[in-house]
Amino acid sequence: MTQHILVLNSGSSSIKFQVLDLEAEHPDVPFLSGLVEQIGESRGHIRIVTENNTIEDRRPILSHSVGLERAFGMMSLLGVGPQDLDVHAVGHRVVQGGSIFNEPVIIDDRVAEQIGSLIPLAPLHNPAHLDGIENARALLPDVPHVAVFDTAFFHSLPDAASRYALNRDIADQYHIRRYGAHGTSHKYVSGLVPDIIGKDPREVNQITLHLGNGASAAAIRGGKAIDTSMGLTPLAGLVMGTRTGDIDPSVIFHLVREAKMSIDEIDTLFNRRSGLKGLCGVNDFRLLQELMNEGESDAQEAYDIYVHRVRQYVGSYMLELGRLDAITFTAGVGENHVGIRRDTMANLENFGIIIDDARNNNEAGVKGARLISTDDSEVKVLVVPTNEELAIARAAAELADS
Ligand code: AMP
Repeated sequence: MTQHILVLNSGSSSIKFQVLDLEAEHPDVPFLSGLVEQIGESRGHIRIVTENNTIEDRRPILSHSVGLERAFGMMSLLGVGPQDLDVHAVGHRVVQGGSIFNEPVIIDDRVAEQIGSLIPLAPLHNPAHLDGIENARALLPDVPHVAVFDTAFFHSLPDAASRYALNRDIADQYHIRRYGAHGTSHKYVSGLVPDIIGKDPREVNQITLHLGNGASAAAIRGGKAIDTSMGLTPLAGLVMGTRTGDIDPSVIFHLVREAKMSIDEIDTLFNRRSGLKGLCGVNDFRLLQELMNEGESDAQEAYDIYVHRVRQYVGSYMLELGRLDAITFTAGVGENHVGIRRDTMANLENFGIIIDDARNNNEAGVKGARLISTDDSEVKVLVVPTNEELAIARAAAELADS
């Protein structure tokens, strides 16, 4: 038996997708993955990778719909087109579900319209998602399409965590609150933790740290998120590859008044020219590490600021949760960078958090989820690889079958 689910992540100039077989022995390993990039540029790039084949196309791609149609055509040439695979459902990643969506939903015209209505809250993401949804629905009209929202897991935040101390009328009129992001990842990873530490999921208080190019923290009690670091948009919270994370909003007024910068310039400055990249010129942690090894002081300072911010969040979430069972690292940096895990967890013995260096270095070469704290560490510290595509595929399959 197979159950193929197509998972689509449409960005502003690219489309990433995977086909997963949920009935396979290793459903987490994609059956096929694809990338359509440089849409609208003079040279395009499509790559389809299966277990035995990789095919590429470098002709210009006029639009998202052209790109997706061509990618499906290339899949068909390999005998693994959506029709050949009898795709059971399509799962679409959607960054912003606003206050409307608190769980995955089958997409019909009304849902598509509602996702469109949320564009002001996610001007960088939702237009591309909507485009992807419309193109995929046109190409695969007989298959259920499901939207899975990055914000949905944080719908449960208590008001004290989700409401800003901003004028209530203005906040309500313009739908300003903490929506969070990376929810699919935080939910997936935190869902695996109780089993690994051998506790009843309803009893587990935990912190998840999604440290990738984007980065966020979440505090979770009994499977429900009670706080998270991202805010109205994914700009808030931790230091990221190119985003500031938390910053005094007065910096904006100051830059408008003193540097005569426009709002769009500041938007770009905060989202794309700041974070690690803005501090030391690189946003990839591997390059950052190389610079630190060479004794670059800007890189070392960027690292220290990053660590400082993670620790601030861990500390405040420990207090919010009252009792803590587990801290989990995930995503590109969290899963791979030994030093970040060591330094963000350093000197916390008094809080019952003790890292085991050999486990942190993965001397045993464990693949997949693993414990990196000592046996007597009261709080368990883990590395759990995230898999947002698998989570989206499962959510899509569940709704398609309901
Ligand atoms: P993500 O957004 O989860 O795909 O994470 C991407 C980021 O993870 C990259 O920009 C790197 O900073 C980091 N990363 C990926 N692989 C490694 C690695 N082997 N060691 C350290 N950092 C890594």
